[in-house]
Amino acid sequence: MMKDVKNRTMLPVWTKGFLIGALLVMFAAQSVSARASSDGTERNTATARSGQAKYVFLFIGDGMAMAQISSTEVYTTARSSKDIGITKLGFTRFPVSGLTTTYDAGTFITDSASAITAIATGNKTLSGVLNMDPAKKQRFKTIAEYAHEAGMKVGVVSSVTLDHATPAGFFAKVPSRSNYYDIAVQMVKSGFEYFAGGGLLQPTGKNKDQIDVIRMAKEEGYTYVNSREDFNALKPGAGKVLAVNATLQDSGSMPYELDRKSGDLSLADYTRKGIELLEDNPRGFFMSVEGGKIDWACHANDAGAAIHDVIAFDNAVKEALDFAQAHPEETLIIVTGDHETGGMTIGFAGTQYSTFFDKVALQKKSFIAFNNEVLIPYKKNTPRVQAKPADLIPAIRDAFGLDYNSLSDFQKEQLEFAFRRSMGDEIERPVAEDQYLLYGGYEPLTVKITQIMNQTAGIGWTSYAHTGVPVSTFAAGVHQELFSGYYDNTDIFRKLISAMNLTL
Ligand SMILES: [Zn+2]
Repeated sequence: MMKDVKNRTMLPVWTKGFLIGALLVMFAAQSVSARASSDGTERNTATARSGQAKYVFLFIGDGMAMAQISSTEVYTTARSSKDIGITKLGFTRFPVSGLTTTYDAGTFITDSASAITAIATGNKTLSGVLNMDPAKKQRFKTIAEYAHEAGMKVGVVSSVTLDHATPAGFFAKVPSRSNYYDIAVQMVKSGFEYFAGGGLLQPTGKNKDQIDVIRMAKEEGYTYVNSREDFNALKPGAGKVLAVNATLQDSGSMPYELDRKSGDLSLADYTRKGIELLEDNPRGFFMSVEGGKIDWACHANDAGAAIHDVIAFDNAVKEALDFAQAHPEETLIIVTGDHETGGMTIGFAGTQYSTFFDKVALQKKSFIAFNNEVLIPYKKNTPRVQAKPADLIPAIRDAFGLDYNSLSDFQKEQLEFAFRRSMGDEIERPVAEDQYLLYGGYEPLTVKITQIMNQTAGIGWTSYAHTGVPVSTFAAGVHQELFSGYYDNTDIFRKLISAMNLTL
């Protein structure tokens, strides 16, 4: 949604689509005249130079490749029309796009740690390793650290925990992405000006016996806020900020957009506040914003949750676009993904050449909200011998819009089987044999509901993990042209260094 536009622009308040179009025309015209500075000798000077990207946004949709993006565009049209067509997102209207390979040093199917190491430092490493070489000896300097050294302010925003691999990729160097406490300590020692979004997984260490990182952050001069009121009250000049969302859902993350209550802060809110707090700086800022739960939804094969999180992510990008209107010749916005998740596609054997994306709009809860609010309490309160699928049919209809009576006998059978697996029954065959292929380690009933929902909409999945297809990268603003073509994720680092005229 468009908020606060008037405060940052002299332009009349047009429609969002028109604003994006007008902005992109300005960006495109600007990019023709943009030229790289000849050398890096003015590093650390107080002000940004002409032709240098002064305000740089790096948006990362975790697990987001073309299937996630296209599904969102199809869905947005399908929810209001029977026409065949797409409604472009803000970032898919960007003037420049490219394709980006994602393989890491050990596998074609990267994890988020090696992917962000590639993007943030230009180096390939092994899955699980964060900003260190495959031997876990050498430490790599990140794009955010180069920017900070040059006088830019730095912000790191994520909808998942701030110690999760992708946000951590801008400030932490650890042999394992699971070293959450070490990552959190490195965060508060980074000196970066703005951290916001989800919480921290181990603020007092794995065994809860270390110094509280929040206390450490305060000692390092951070203002810590974890309520909407305190967050909204933050004003420019607030100094370094660590903002944790008041409502945390699974594993310390912000809620899925599908589950976000009105009045709860969004990824766009955290992005807009970051701009407000970081903007007042002669050398500008570098801000990374991660839509982290696109990935989590796709791991669970929940297209509805993924699509709504792509929309929330796009709304955050629109905040950057609003800002860029006032600084068209100094702003660069990059949107990319770190890898694809789930092997999501538009097309399923059962619907052949047809899609029914309007069905996705019937879903009102993410898989995790259904688990927490419906399935887990049911399992707790119902003796196994008394449990029957019919008990949950109304709740399934309310949460997913799934009409049990309209299902085929085969689908009903699948749901019944999954229900019994969720209730802990070991039926027909030993559970372990096919449990992972069928349910990927998730609640069997819930994942089967989302799969059937998705399949009837014409959405298919091949995996509960990441896949090895390239992702798309979109660019708008000064030096946008650098991001055209087919290149590796390690090249994003070099392109950003060049656009910001930083010296290695
Ligand atoms: Zn990822």
